[in-house]
Amino acid sequence: MSNIRFQALQTVLTRTIPEFKAPTSKVSEYYSANVFDKKKMREFLSKEAYESIISSIDHGEPVQRDMADQVASAMKAWAIGKGATHYTHWFQPLTGTTAEKHDAFFEPTLDGAIEKFSGDALAQQEPDASSFPNGGIRNTFEARGYTAWDPSSPAFIMGRTLCIPTVFVSYTGEALDYKVPLLKALNALDKAAVDVCQYFDKSVEKVNASLGIEQEYFLVDLALFNARPDMYLTGRTLFGHLSAKNQQLEDHYFGSIPTRVYAFMQDFELEALQLGIPLKTRHNEVAPSQFECAPIYEEINLAIDHNQLLMDIMDRVGKRHNFKVLLHEKPYAGVNGSGKHNNWSMITNTGKNLLSPGKTPKSNLMFLTFFVNTIKAVYEHADLLRASIASVNNDHRLGANEAPPAIISIFLGSQLSDVLDEIETSRISKKAKEEALLWQGIPKIPQILQDNTDRNRTSPFAFTGNKFELRAVGSSANSASPMTILNLIVADQLKKFKVDVDKLLKKGEKKDVALLTVIKRYIKESKAIRFEGNGYSEEWEQMAESRNLANIKTTPKALDALVTEKAENVFESTGVFSRREAHARHEVLLDDFYKKLQIEARVMGELVNSLIIPAAINYQSKLVENVKGLKEIGLDETIYTAQLDIIKKLAEHINFIKTNTDQMVDERRTANKIEDARERAIAYDEKVKAYFDPIRYHVDKLEQLVDDAVWPLPKFRELLFLK
Ligand code: ADP
Ligand code: MG
Repeated sequence: MSNIRFQALQTVLTRTIPEFKAPTSKVSEYYSANVFDKKKMREFLSKEAYESIISSIDHGEPVQRDMADQVASAMKAWAIGKGATHYTHWFQPLTGTTAEKHDAFFEPTLDGAIEKFSGDALAQQEPDASSFPNGGIRNTFEARGYTAWDPSSPAFIMGRTLCIPTVFVSYTGEALDYKVPLLKALNALDKAAVDVCQYFDKSVEKVNASLGIEQEYFLVDLALFNARPDMYLTGRTLFGHLSAKNQQLEDHYFGSIPTRVYAFMQDFELEALQLGIPLKTRHNEVAPSQFECAPIYEEINLAIDHNQLLMDIMDRVGKRHNFKVLLHEKPYAGVNGSGKHNNWSMITNTGKNLLSPGKTPKSNLMFLTFFVNTIKAVYEHADLLRASIASVNNDHRLGANEAPPAIISIFLGSQLSDVLDEIETSRISKKAKEEALLWQGIPKIPQILQDNTDRNRTSPFAFTGNKFELRAVGSSANSASPMTILNLIVADQLKKFKVDVDKLLKKGEKKDVALLTVIKRYIKESKAIRFEGNGYSEEWEQMAESRNLANIKTTPKALDALVTEKAENVFESTGVFSRREAHARHEVLLDDFYKKLQIEARVMGELVNSLIIPAAINYQSKLVENVKGLKEIGLDETIYTAQLDIIKKLAEHINFIKTNTDQMVDERRTANKIEDARERAIAYDEKVKAYFDPIRYHVDKLEQLVDDAVWPLPKFRELLFLK
């Protein structure tokens, strides 16, 4: 019987491509068809209920009970009309994926059944959720938590289930999900940014953050994926020699999309568009079998829900096309990993993008205010931003020799760098102050920045014309984590800015002079975080060190930033995390880190012992038989030196991986006994993970040595190049 690898290859070679039947109608006709959006609310709700709910959405006020009843019955009517049979509260626990528990609409009655969905069921549920990660917030006597409706993100239908976006909190009020802190951070940003906007424009009443998420991913044939236990248990290949051809020809990026992939893309895009996810771009990425898609930016809470939903849809639709969608940050050692670029800005209710340079000097002062405050916030809290993107998977990118580096820095592009340098060194003369000639001190900012093309791909946080792009987020991450931090540190910074400016105003300084004076100071203070050069270079590591910028390469130490006094202060000032919540989150993240390494180490041990060594011995025995035979017919040893050499090499590699795997198991047992979550995570990182690369090295040597016909795991060339 051929091994599972060959069965999988057979399957791939005989696959027929499922066809995609494109809809005959225009996108505009089915876009958002499966969303209970404002248009449908207007259609299904009374005028009073509609207005009340819109006002709740716009002002973040709680929805009144009687209104909730009306909304629930309208939602039910709409959903049942579209074939839905169940409803669920859809939430984002700290596992990183989304969670749902479906309940049927129908309820039996004395003489049959009716479909029911009340305002109570819409507003609140109690999922039996005591096994979600909570960092010790829920010990058994308070084990209950509840999900509560988030009206700012519209309900939608997936399959035959009405999904209601919700937050997830404990009975004692602590956040157990990603959404609650995000909403609090957005609230803090709104308040702080609106206050600062008043210096420039009294008509601003609300500031929302905007977010456009670029999603990178790999595709692999499902049969090959299922033939690799490391992939289906950990999401990445723990072994595998780089194939002879990989990405050296740079022939994949922006190349034509393979037919089979194209069918998959159209299919998931259709589902996404029906769910109101405004997907706009698709293309090949740098590595073979790597791709990217991106929607148009949206209000940030919705953008994050949509990204979480999109990852689900891709996975589901992928299976229909016999693809596994790999969202792991580093599925294949030696080829590029995947990220999730977070394009972020702030936009007022009057439609102004606060990070878009203006036409006039006056609007440029407004732009500079938000621009420089963002830079200052990242400078002050680079450690928090680093912590917010830390995960066991992302450690393969950050801190390994890959984009982007673990050092948080900001790229502005030469034009804006020059502008800030000019402001920093300019003097606000007495004459300028008196005669309001201040504007001459502000350099002209070109409307269209050349740097749109001059992209620095090595920077973790880059200004790209009218937004910042956080490139360091991992491809499988929930963007709420970094976006909560980014929005809350900018909120905190803007609050401080207002205090600083008001101080000068009190002293009788003119408004523009006061604003510019504080901006100048911030530019000077935050200079160290700005870097325009190559973020991968060794010089940058040294330079960053001399600038006192942190370069924390691994997660357990990066997470320390969440529980410092400085963090506690900024969490408290913005109201985003209580001390207990921050510590709980810290623990959840540390646990996630070590548990994932624990699984990887176990899988590695199993595969070494039950697949790799047997395959190597199988081949070795064949060689031994061969040598015996050659000897028997009286041939001289010089005839079979090659065989003897291979037999010895096989033995060396086998011995190495066996002894090292055994030692790794010992280290794991030692690490498991450590009580302290941080110490345990560090032990896993430094003691257990340390065995991964050497073991892999020798397994990959075996892969190259052993008869291809008995090698049990699909090889990189098959995973990456079979179309
Ligand atoms: P690139 O690959 O060159 O970085 P893409 O076009 O793939 O660019 O992605 C850019 C993303 O940034 C898109 O999602 C786009 O909608 C988003 N974007 C554009 N303007 C803003 C903005 N003001 N705020 C947030 N995101 C924005
Ligand atoms: Mg980008």
